[in-house]
Amino acid sequence: MPQFDAIVIGCGAVGSAAVLHLARAGQRVLGIDRFQPPHIFGSTHGETRITRAAIGEGVDYTPLAQRSHLLWRDLERETGAHLFEQCGCLFIPARDGGEVHGVSSAQFFANIETAARLHGVDGEAISSERLRRDYPAFATAPGDRAFLDREGGYLMVEDCVRTELAAAARHGATLLTGRRVTSFRRAGGEHTVTMDDGATATATTLIVTTGPWITELIAPLRRRVRVTRQVLYWFEILSSPERLGPGNPVFIWDVTGRERAASDIYGFPWLGSPANGVKIANEVLTGETDPDAVAREVTAEEIEATYETYVRPFMPDLGPTCLRSAVCLYTNAPGGRFIIDRDPGDANVIYASPCSGHGFKHSPAVGEALAAMALGETPRVDLSGFTLDRLAADPA
Ligand SMILES: Cc1cc2nc3c(=O)[nH]c(=O)nc-3n(C[C@H](O)[C@H](O)[C@H](O)COP(=O)(O)OP(=O)(O)OC[C@H]3O[C@@H](n4cnc5c(N)ncnc54)[C@H](O)[C@@H]3O)c2cc1C
Repeated sequence: MPQFDAIVIGCGAVGSAAVLHLARAGQRVLGIDRFQPPHIFGSTHGETRITRAAIGEGVDYTPLAQRSHLLWRDLERETGAHLFEQCGCLFIPARDGGEVHGVSSAQFFANIETAARLHGVDGEAISSERLRRDYPAFATAPGDRAFLDREGGYLMVEDCVRTELAAAARHGATLLTGRRVTSFRRAGGEHTVTMDDGATATATTLIVTTGPWITELIAPLRRRVRVTRQVLYWFEILSSPERLGPGNPVFIWDVTGRERAASDIYGFPWLGSPANGVKIANEVLTGETDPDAVAREVTAEEIEATYETYVRPFMPDLGPTCLRSAVCLYTNAPGGRFIIDRDPGDANVIYASPCSGHGFKHSPAVGEALAAMALGETPRVDLSGFTLDRLAADPA
C-alpha cells in the first residue's frame, strides 16, 4: 500500500490549495516543495495580487473566480486571517490595439461585459466623463472608458499561501519543504517520487503544480509554455495620496500605443501608509527566461525606463523614486490560457499550469478541482476549456 493517497509536487499558489482540499477531504496527502513557501523564487510573491470576477481572459474563467472568492472567504472564517480586500477592479482598455494576457484589449473588454451579464457580476461600465471625474489618479483622456468590477479587489499573496499550508497541516497534511522532486515513476498502481537528497515517497496519485518549473517534470508542456521575467515596482507618492489609497480600486489599464508604451499597466492602492508607495507594473510580453538563471536584481536603468514609459505619463501623482522592487515569473501558455489535465498515459498524474499572469485569483478553485480529480469526482467548475488538447486545437 502506498504511503499516501496523493503527493502534491510544488506548494505555491495552486499546490497549497490542492493540499488543503485533499487534507480537508480526509486524504493522506504529502506536499513537497523545493523552497519554503511562500518564497520569492517562483510566481507567488510581491505582497498582493489582483482579483476580479468579470474575467476578460475568457468568460469560462468567471465561475473559477467566483468560486475562489467564496473559498477565500471560507478560509478567512476558518483561520481569522484577512486575505481578500474587495475594493473593486477598474479596467481601462487600449484606445487602439493592445493585448492583455493573450487577448486583444477590445476582446478583453467585451469578455468582461459578457461575463458580467452571464454570471450576474456586480459591476458597471464607466463613461469617459465619470472616469475623469471619479478617478483623477489616472491621466485618462476624452474617449477613454472603463468597467468597474465591484467583486474584484486584491489578495495578500504570501499570507494566502501561508494560511492555506498552515490550515492543510492542521487538517493532517504532511509537508516536506527544501526538497526538490527530481523524478517520478509508476509501478503497478503506485507512484514513487524521488527527491534531490535521494529520499522517496509513494502515493496512488500525483499532482504536479511546479509553476515555472513545470516542464522539468511534465514533458508534454515543453514546447507549450514560455517563462518570462516580470518586475514589480513600488513608486513614491508625490501628491494627492487620497486618490491612491484605501477605498480606491485596483486597476488594469492597457496603455499600449500611448506615448511609448507597449503593454498594459496594473496597480494597487497603497497599503498601510502612503509612505509605502504604490505597487505598479507593466507586463513584459516578450523574451524568455529560465527560473534558475533569471536576473533577480532590478537595475537603475530599468527603473528609470519603466517610470518614464509606464508611470509618469499616466499616474501624475507618482514620483520617480522606486522604494522597492521584486522580480517574479510568468509561465505563459498560448492565448494566455491555463493548462489543467491528466497525463494521457497515466490518468493518476494530474498537472496544472494556471499562470499566464492571471492565475493567482483562481488558485483556490483550481486546487479544489485538482483534489476532486484525484478523488475521482467531477470538479465543481468545468475545466474542459483548459486541457492540453483544447490548447492544441485552439491555439492563439
Ligand atoms: C509579477 C506577477 C504578477 C501577477 N499578478 C497577478 C494578479 O494580479 N492576479 C492574478 O490572479 N495572478 C497574477 N499573477 C499570476 C499568479 O501569481 C500565478 O498564476 C500563480 O502564482 C502561479 O502559481 P503556481 O502554483 O502555478 O506557481 P508557484 O506559486 O510558483 O508554485 C510552484 C512551486 O513549485 C515548487 N517547485 C518547483 N519545482 C519543484 C520540484 N521539482 N520539486 C518540488 N517543488 C518544486 C516551487 O518552489 C514553487 O513553490 C502574477 C504573477 C506575477 C509573476
